[in-house]
Amino acid sequence: QCVIACPTASLTEKEAISDVWDVLSDPTKHVVAQTAPSIQVTLGEEFGMEIGSLVRGKLVTSLKRLGFDRVFATDVTADLTIMEEASELLDRINNTEKLPLLSSCCPGWVKFAEHFYPEFLPNLSSCKSPHEMCGALTKTWYAQKYEINPENIINVAIMPCTAKEYEAARPEMVSDGYRNVDFVLTTRELARMIRQAGIDFANLPDTKYDEPFDQFSGAGTIFGATGGLFEAALRTAHYFKTGEEMDIPDYSDTRSQSGLKYGEVQLDGKTLSIAIAHGTGNAKKALDSHKSGEKKIDYMEVMACPGGCVGGGGQPILGSKNHKKISLDYRHNRADSLFNVDKDMEIRQSHKNPGVKKIYDEFLGKPLSETSKKYLHTSYVERGKYPYLRTEE
Ligand code: SF4
Repeated sequence: QCVIACPTASLTEKEAISDVWDVLSDPTKHVVAQTAPSIQVTLGEEFGMEIGSLVRGKLVTSLKRLGFDRVFATDVTADLTIMEEASELLDRINNTEKLPLLSSCCPGWVKFAEHFYPEFLPNLSSCKSPHEMCGALTKTWYAQKYEINPENIINVAIMPCTAKEYEAARPEMVSDGYRNVDFVLTTRELARMIRQAGIDFANLPDTKYDEPFDQFSGAGTIFGATGGLFEAALRTAHYFKTGEEMDIPDYSDTRSQSGLKYGEVQLDGKTLSIAIAHGTGNAKKALDSHKSGEKKIDYMEVMACPGGCVGGGGQPILGSKNHKKISLDYRHNRADSLFNVDKDMEIRQSHKNPGVKKIYDEFLGKPLSETSKKYLHTSYVERGKYPYLRTEE
């Protein structure tokens, strides 16, 4: 008997709410939440707020009221991902047969590549995604720094999609024997918990994220929208290569919602061909064109969901009774909100984030160091071509 299964694992939702309530009520556990960049502009929609409302402070307060011991911003480890991935890009530019570099922070895309484009697996960035980096550091650097037994630390990731659940369960996502991320809640699942607890979300005061994952740059925040990862990586790669900060223009082309965008950027006198794809069909088009020689790529950002994480499968579903206003362009509203956060930030480059500098000074050393490779990098496996046809006994 054959059954259909989603090739990117984005649709295999496993409810984690009751497990999370259990650990929150266990006094022996130190339970930390980490929130993906996009959640701060989507969670409010579950409580009748305008699409794309920035609710970062209320998000943190709600998690504290649910009983989390610490609340961390995954934006910090998005900055760390940029530090590592920009270094990897420069390494590959110096060694051009290792190009193109393909982004790897979207587990839906990674799984698609593992099934359908295994010939490109050596091109995938070896960086773990930001939530896995946060989980790895929580069970190692953070545990040592605050003298907490990693056995008692539970990392709960609030994420835009269920593909992150699949990623968290991958056997290689462990550090020193501890699973990096213990549970994943989608935006909608967190909203359900907030409602179960009777919290009046819209009227909550603001609270700041907890140290040491509280300082992030605008670059870490724009990860949540299509084109954001590319921009963030370029800012840091430019600095690493030239020692100078680049101007940050408003990249209206790369930020647009069209599914496949091509462009060129100059990096220290070299011209790089860039592609930005959202939706695996668009990634397929770009890879096929690259293979046929029609359209060469040196670097490609891929997000499996339309619009990137702001359009993730675990985000609020527009049109439900919880939404005040429905806009056909809602992903754009959410993305604009993230890009506006970046514009208003004092620090807009990952390499200028003092929180990230501290992690390198105290634990990792430098990007692509042995310690970084041990805790922040991973590898991929070829998985066979037909995941959607599974034979059952
Ligand atoms: Fe998840 Fe979609 Fe974001 Fe990929 S693009 S990480 S599948 S929400």
